[in-house]
Amino acid sequence: MHYSPVAEIRRTALMHNITHLRSQIPETKLMAVIKADAYGHGLVQVARWLTGAVDGFAVARIEEAVTLRESGVEARILILAGVFNQEGLEQATQYDLDLVIHDAYQVGLLEQANLPHGLKIWLKHDSGMHRLGVRCEEFQSLYRRLSHCACVRLPLNTMTHFATADEADGSETERQIARFEAQVQDLPGERALCNSAGVLRWPSAHGDWVRVGLAIYGANPMVGGRAQQIGLQPVMTLKTRVLAVRPQRQGEAAGYGQIWRAERDTRIAVVAVGYGDGYPRHAASGTPVLINGQRFPLVGRVSMDTLMVEIGDAPVAVGDEVILWGQGLPVEEIAEHAETIPYELLSQVTGRVRFHYL
Ligand code: PLP
Repeated sequence: MHYSPVAEIRRTALMHNITHLRSQIPETKLMAVIKADAYGHGLVQVARWLTGAVDGFAVARIEEAVTLRESGVEARILILAGVFNQEGLEQATQYDLDLVIHDAYQVGLLEQANLPHGLKIWLKHDSGMHRLGVRCEEFQSLYRRLSHCACVRLPLNTMTHFATADEADGSETERQIARFEAQVQDLPGERALCNSAGVLRWPSAHGDWVRVGLAIYGANPMVGGRAQQIGLQPVMTLKTRVLAVRPQRQGEAAGYGQIWRAERDTRIAVVAVGYGDGYPRHAASGTPVLINGQRFPLVGRVSMDTLMVEIGDAPVAVGDEVILWGQGLPVEEIAEHAETIPYELLSQVTGRVRFHYL
């Protein structure tokens, strides 16, 4: 028996989520966002499972797309944020990748490129995120310049990205949709606006394609939301085992910094997972963990290889299985206790954790 963390990655949950999401976008193509190692779930394995079930993939960087192609993935792959030189354009051509173009600098590269015709371009409009994307005042002129590039396939596709679609107040997303529509309404080509939150909340903006990340992995992108409320199943369950069970006397502190003291005589389970595995160091005392199906509160500071849980007189023994998040314990809830988001927790599981694909 291993006393070390395992990330179980469930194919049935992934496929359930895809089917469920697809039922909400009957007219729209689904691009699975699998950047950052498929949000920590395993880039190539997730792409293989999803091949045939989605219409394409999106990654952040060319290197991620090259890894996919070299692993035999033939589906359409969009690079969300990463072509800065002629070498990048050549790779995009060589590996048949779709590119997001977000500024005039990149348009200049395409104008100078000596490449065969056929590059598939998505011109990104900055409808309010103000991170990457072409501002309203420049959009039509860059669109025209791109349309005249010899290497670019026509018609161009267009896209935008939402800044606050996960928040209860939808007014800024409504403004973003309106600004985007105003720019693209007379243009040919396909359109993509929505991330996970957009798909769930803004059916009128589904367009031709949606780019869905978090939801396919079975987490709810809405602030305060839970996957179960929206019919999704967690794909990753992070598990480990109890390393030690110790008595703790009233008033004694435990762990680094002695930030927690026992309020009564109790027992502590020391659990084999820490920030060296990707469990968040900032998880506060009280963050739930699941042992034998029962919730117990984390106490004290998370260390590199271990964390501590107060178990009182519950029947917990060395070797018992502990779930940190996933089946029975929403990753969204753990993220809230650690003042972060499920995206960060899922994508930061480290190489020390063994992955089991089920
Ligand atoms: N589109 C773009 C441009 C993104 O950067 C991302 C993720 O960050 C997504 C779509 C997917 O977002 P989500 O995981 O919220 O579905």
